[in-house]
Amino acid sequence: MRLTSLCLLGLLLLDCRPDDPPHTPVYEVPAEIEPFVQAFRDEAAKRGKTLKIDDLIVEFGETSGQDICGVSQVESNKTPRITLVREWPCWTRAYKETQEGLVFHHLAHSVLGRGHKKTLLPNGDFASLMNGEDLGVYSPCIYPIGNTPCNLTGRRTYYLDELFNENTPVPAWGK
Ligand SMILES: [Zn+2]
Repeated sequence: MRLTSLCLLGLLLLDCRPDDPPHTPVYEVPAEIEPFVQAFRDEAAKRGKTLKIDDLIVEFGETSGQDICGVSQVESNKTPRITLVREWPCWTRAYKETQEGLVFHHLAHSVLGRGHKKTLLPNGDFASLMNGEDLGVYSPCIYPIGNTPCNLTGRRTYYLDELFNENTPVPAWGK
């Protein structure tokens, strides 16, 4: 009796499956973007998150709408697609760390399912790399430029912590 019920349940579940064919993962990432995808996976792993990124298309092209330098399209049963704008001031001539910020922002849309977050830290800086306006928020303190000492130690670390965990506490420099 119990077995019969389980079988019926199984059949019902089968019947309820959508008619869409199973999605076949596609991975097409330009060679110059690939190191950033690997870095994103590494930063996630450092924070205890194992990410399998095997279904992703990244391309250079045109965008319109809120994200000036890139757009992420995420639809069920489709390969997430990130389109980045190559023209200045987006990809071309951007600092490496700003490029990383742009790719990480869009990987968070496409791989982590995150949306935009406009809130500010108490000091007025953006609280998240997921703000839609400034993708260079952690750039200045990856590599101190010239003689200007970088006194915002841990800036990138905070933004990456927050990227993978929205509940990351406000850092000392953001108070
Ligand atoms: Zn965005």
